[in-house]
Amino acid sequence: MATRALESRFEHLSVNDENEPLDGSKYLKSKMTNSAAPSSSQLSQNASRANLHKIALQNQSTTSTIVAVPSQTAQWRASRIQNGSGSPARKENSGASSEFDETARVEPKNPLYDLPMPKQFHLGMFEIGRPLGKGKFGRVYLVRERNSGFICALKVLHKNELKHGDAEKQVRREIEIQSNLRHPNVLRLFGHFHDSKRIFLILEFAGKGELYKHLRRENRFPEWKAAQYIAQMAAALQYCHKKHIMHRDIKPENILLGIHGEIKLSDFGWSVHAPSNRRDTLCGTLDYLPPEMLKQPGRVKNTYTNRVDLWSLGVLTYEFLVGEAPFEDTPVLTQRKILRGEMTVPPFVSPEAKDLITRLLVLDPDKRISLDHVQEHPWIIKYCVKGERKTMRESKKPDRKDSSSDRKE
Ligand code: AMP
Repeated sequence: MATRALESRFEHLSVNDENEPLDGSKYLKSKMTNSAAPSSSQLSQNASRANLHKIALQNQSTTSTIVAVPSQTAQWRASRIQNGSGSPARKENSGASSEFDETARVEPKNPLYDLPMPKQFHLGMFEIGRPLGKGKFGRVYLVRERNSGFICALKVLHKNELKHGDAEKQVRREIEIQSNLRHPNVLRLFGHFHDSKRIFLILEFAGKGELYKHLRRENRFPEWKAAQYIAQMAAALQYCHKKHIMHRDIKPENILLGIHGEIKLSDFGWSVHAPSNRRDTLCGTLDYLPPEMLKQPGRVKNTYTNRVDLWSLGVLTYEFLVGEAPFEDTPVLTQRKILRGEMTVPPFVSPEAKDLITRLLVLDPDKRISLDHVQEHPWIIKYCVKGERKTMRESKKPDRKDSSSDRKE
């Protein structure tokens, strides 16, 4: 009965395409100051610049990617208030402690997260919260797993839409690949289930939504922020590449932000598991496509390696700092510019950042800077937490005592 009610609710929910701007931050401002996690306002301060990267790096050593529980509860509470299903909210307003009280449940058990084997997930397991957004084939809702209280995002894909859009293979690939990835800067896919009409993906909830919207709002990012995002992207890609996964569709639209503003790489629809590290299909978005993936006269097939993601990382770095992609033009001209590597970095971009961009946007894939070196590039080093940087570098180069000596600032 409960399942039917929830299903009918899904059918009738209207979905906005917009994320509420920094929705969870409303709560965070008042609550997160009590915990170790920074509030969104704090994140914008100088003192917390380092936190973005620090949080990401701290998480790398653990298997858990779950963000602080209080913020999860808060998101859920905000959602319930918005949806008008507010008994927990009413309880909160009256000051009574409830099962939604974050202090009462510091670490809820997460059956989705811990399961080593697929479990029979079903819609009845979830309470449905507010719509988070709408993609080409799916709508995404904030949901709460009933037993554990665990907050996640549920993506609902309609099978007939996938069929018409010829996207079934893409979704299958997304599920196969993403469910095997566990990294703090890669969006978790906890599981999936389906009924006769729909496929449901149970995803980690990215509290700050699409990076793309933040970029449009800010026009371009300050260098410290761009550097920290790029460092996290490099870490995420390095992890994927080690597992022989190339993403192939890196762009701001495919990156979400966690509650602390940390990178969550998502949209693995175009990604591929290529143990041989060579592929020959054309995919991705034109602005971000590397030259080796473009059709070139005289070449029957284009082969490429995971270094395609390095090129896209260069485009991303440029777009973060400049506010637009480096080869943006009409489709024909964009292709031509990409094939020639024709772009100019505006003078307001620092020489260090320009250096990294030009080392990534290299026509010959083999000559692009490696992800290891991206993470040790002076521009990245300059804006990353000193302690973390030191740890990272010392673990690779045990003879070095202090990494600051070789900084080129
Ligand atoms: P997609 O179909 O993956 O493009 O998702 C559509 C929109 O839903 C995105 O643009 C985001 O705004 C939102 N969204 C998707 N997945 C999540 C998630 N895991 N957490 C928060 N918001 C999400």
